[in-house]
Amino acid sequence: MNRKEYFEIPWAALRSMCDPSFAKRAVFSHSEYLPHGNVITSAAANITDTEVVTAKGDKVAYDFAVIATGHSETGAYTKDEKFSQYQTDHQKIKSASSILIIGGGQTGVELAAEIAVDYPDKKVTIVHRGSMLLEFIGESASNKVVHWLKSRKVEIILGQSVDVNSAKDGVYKTSGGQTIDAECHFICIGKPIGSGWLKETVLKGSLDIHGRLMVDSDLKVKGRSNVFGIGDITDIPELKLGYLAQRHAGITAKNIRLLMKNANDNNLNVYKPALPLSLIALGKKEAVAQFYCLSCIGRLPGMIKSGDLFVGRTRKQLGLLSELQ
Ligand SMILES: Cc1cc2nc3c(=O)[nH]c(=O)nc-3n(C[C@H](O)[C@H](O)[C@H](O)COP(=O)(O)OP(=O)(O)OC[C@H]3O[C@@H](n4cnc5c(N)ncnc54)[C@H](O)[C@@H]3O)c2cc1C
Repeated sequence: MNRKEYFEIPWAALRSMCDPSFAKRAVFSHSEYLPHGNVITSAAANITDTEVVTAKGDKVAYDFAVIATGHSETGAYTKDEKFSQYQTDHQKIKSASSILIIGGGQTGVELAAEIAVDYPDKKVTIVHRGSMLLEFIGESASNKVVHWLKSRKVEIILGQSVDVNSAKDGVYKTSGGQTIDAECHFICIGKPIGSGWLKETVLKGSLDIHGRLMVDSDLKVKGRSNVFGIGDITDIPELKLGYLAQRHAGITAKNIRLLMKNANDNNLNVYKPALPLSLIALGKKEAVAQFYCLSCIGRLPGMIKSGDLFVGRTRKQLGLLSELQ
């Protein structure tokens, strides 16, 4: 069950905004990788001990349920809507000579880098509320990114926010009273955790104070014998990353198969939180990588992620061809 009729490799979105043709491989219908599955296109609105209720009111009975609603999103329910959203973003970027990016987390930084590399003549400004960009990585890695962006003429304003509704004639005011001229803006602040729909359900007691779904080491939701939690929605103490969500999925699939054969809980596979490795793309060739307190920036980490953004690899993992025919 998914609220959208398509799957999207989320971290390819920033490149698709600059180059909409990139989305052709990163956005595909659920039926392409699940030819024999039954996909219900609707938001899940409630879960009971035996069924999930969709936003349309349909009831779907389950023996096992896996909750993987990482982040909640709005808009673009169909593939065509998504492609046209990228065309609109692309036109916006292409026609503006100055662009304001609000938010200096991974989304804001990767978008600024894509624009700075593809359109070196455009003036890009990032306004970030925090005291450093990419707060989840260390200070040294963050400083390297600041240096990289500044060397490409990206202006960075830290410790301030912008109320876009108060913008007038292309002039934006920051909370610190600074003014920024920009012909368009992109809001790149984190999406809310996709657990809002669980708050009035039988799983409300399994959410922590941040709204994350608490899971045991076998990835069963705390206090539940047939409901699993995987991906960004969980409280697993590790960075929230897609390849880790895929690992959770693999373990969960194995555990469900074991439980279907009446295995004992003690025989279930156990997930160990991953080591803290971050990789942030800086355009098509470079990246910054951090492992514990070690970090490096440039073409070497870029060779791992930035060329294809793992799109071909993810497609292959889902049983699709890496390239379109
Ligand atoms: C800029 C950026 C770069 C990144 N780069 C990388 C990277 O290089 N490598 C990497 O591994 N990870 C990367 N990540 C992290 C990665 O995107 C996430 O960890 C991953 O998408 C988590 O997957 P998920 O399935 O848990 O959640 P999501 O990707 O958020 O998917 C949740 C799905 O559930 C749907 N949904 C939500 N609520 C409901 C509901 N009530 N009913 C039905 N459907 C619902 C949503 O529409 C969505 O399709 C990056 C993230 C960002 C922001």
